[in-house]
Parts: sequence; structure tokens; C-alpha cells
Amino acid sequence: MIYRKYCAAVGGSPPAGGTPEGEELEQINFFTLRKFTAEEVFVFRCTLCDNEIDRDYDRFTTEALHTLSRLFVGRTGLFDHSAKARDQVMRIFSCAVEEVPERTNRLGEPYVRLNAKAYLPRLPENESLILEIEAGIKKEISVSCAMRSPRCSVCGEYFESDECPHAKGDTECAKVPVHAVLAEPVDAFEFSFVAIPAQPAAGVHSMDCRAVEQQTVYEDERTPPRHPQMEQGSALNFFKQKLAAGLPFTTPRYAVGELRQAIELLEEQAQKSADWLSGLRSDVRRSLVLAMPGLPPEAYDGMVADAEPAQLEALRACAWSRLNGPQLIGETPSEDVAPYKI
Ligand SMILES: [Zn+2]
Repeated sequence: MIYRKYCAAVGGSPPAGGTPEGEELEQINFFTLRKFTAEEVFVFRCTLCDNEIDRDYDRFTTEALHTLSRLFVGRTGLFDHSAKARDQVMRIFSCAVEEVPERTNRLGEPYVRLNAKAYLPRLPENESLILEIEAGIKKEISVSCAMRSPRCSVCGEYFESDECPHAKGDTECAKVPVHAVLAEPVDAFEFSFVAIPAQPAAGVHSMDCRAVEQQTVYEDERTPPRHPQMEQGSALNFFKQKLAAGLPFTTPRYAVGELRQAIELLEEQAQKSADWLSGLRSDVRRSLVLAMPGLPPEAYDGMVADAEPAQLEALRACAWSRLNGPQLIGETPSEDVAPYKI
């Protein structure tokens, strides 16, 4: 199973003036149809993802970051993950995995991040975007990639499988929140400027890294994470699987909203079904009164009270055949039946 992961960048320092330096121009010209000069392109640096637990309670392994560093070279940059060709204005020309000294992730492992360099041509229509990047307005970046099914950080089984009883975000069974370990990248798609990235420390690098470091706060407790699987209604499937397997579980924070919506929808549908069944019972009772007049009211009530829809349909068909049958043509209900009519 492929898991499409949206995550975000951690930043980086763009070369001074955004002009390519050293071998960067050569790397850029690998992707162009003609040779561009350093003055014709704008370069910026960002971090695509790291080995920290993000807001979705996902975490890339260091090995996965190395694989992604190869997959992301040549991928285009978009806005809000729009797939429109006219929104493809940037391209990654270089990626590198960097270990940040004296910094660890929440597991206490060395902090590692995947840095990328991207370029865009200095065209008149890109001027405002370049200015926004330089001004730090455009800085939140999200990347999209495909991963094989993530495994649980506690038991190592596939998440949402019957073998794994754990829920993302749960803090009771481990020192760090239960999260998905993303270890097997399959493909990389694109990177995008977005309003709200998935990873807390996301964005284009500032000239030094202090601003980026300050962004690295753990907002798990305050920020509802976006969860790609949630959009497909799989939070409900998660509960169904756990219930079917008779496994204990806690409600992951990200699933609370979807679960509440699902319950409301089920209640609404249940009410509609109850209304329909009530109408069917009244209709069948009326037919029975007409077809078999003279019985006490409790008799008609008893015939329809606990009957299933199929039995009600059969009773109604029987009543109608009596009403329309040749032996009953001309018969009309007697006067004492009238009070029982609905
Ligand atoms: Zn587990």
C-alpha cells in the first residue's frame, strides 16, 4: 500500500542575492534547454523534510531521507500542491542530507534533515515571487512523496493492521507520542509553497538558522494535525478494524473530528430509516384494517409492531390481494372498523 505523504521544509540560507555560486549554475543548466547565465536565475535553499516527529505523527528515518535526496532532484515547485502546469515555476536542482551538530530529534537521535536547492528564472512574472521569498513572506513549504505503508513506532507492525493496537499521538504507552515510521520512499512528486505546512519547523531558510530553530516547537498538543488518511474516511475504518479485532485502542486526537461527523451522519441516517419504517407500518396496518375488518385494534398493532420490512411488504401484498380479489369485490369495511382507520 502506498501512502502519499505531505510534509514540509525546515529552511536553509539562500546564497547571497539568490545568485547561483560555484557548481550550482552547472547543476541548473543540466535541466535547461539552453545555457543560462547566473544573472538569469534565482536560487533559494530549503529543507524538504527531517527525521523529527511531525504534526501528522509521522517520522522519516535517516535512510529514507537519503533515498528521498535522490528522488527529489529535478522535481518541480508549485503552489498549494496545484498540478496546473502554469503553477510550475521552480525546480529542485540539488539535494543533500545534513546532520545538524548538537541537535537531536525527540527520540534523542542525531537530528538529520534533507536540504534542497531550487531555482526559478528571473522573468518579469516571477519578480514578485522572488521578492516574497527574499522578504520571508513565502517560506512555508510542503513536499509530496509516496511511501510504502508506515510502521508503528511502538510495535513495528503496519499501522491500521489488526496486529497494531496503537493509535497515533497516544502518549501513554511510550516516552514519545506513538507515530508512524516512514522508512521506504517509493517516489517524490513535487514541493509547494503552502499556508500551513505539516511539519512544525517548515520553510525557506533565513540567512542564519536562528529563526528556523525557534520555529521548532512541538505543537502536537495544540495544533490539530492534517492527516492525509483522514480525508479518505479511514479514521472510521481504523475504529471498525480495532473493534472487529477486539483490540484495545485509544482515540487518536486527529480522528476525533471525523469520528464525531461519522456518528452524526449515522444518527441522521438512522432517523430517516426509522421514519420510513414507521410510515410503512402505518400503511400496512391501514391495509390490514381494510382487508380484515372487525378485529380489535391490538390485533392490527401486533401484526405490524415487530415485523421486518420484508414481512410488512408480504402482509401488505396479502391485504391488497384480499381487497382486490374476486371473493371480496363489493365488500366494504363495516361501520365499527372506522375508528381503527389511520
Ligand atoms: Zn503498534
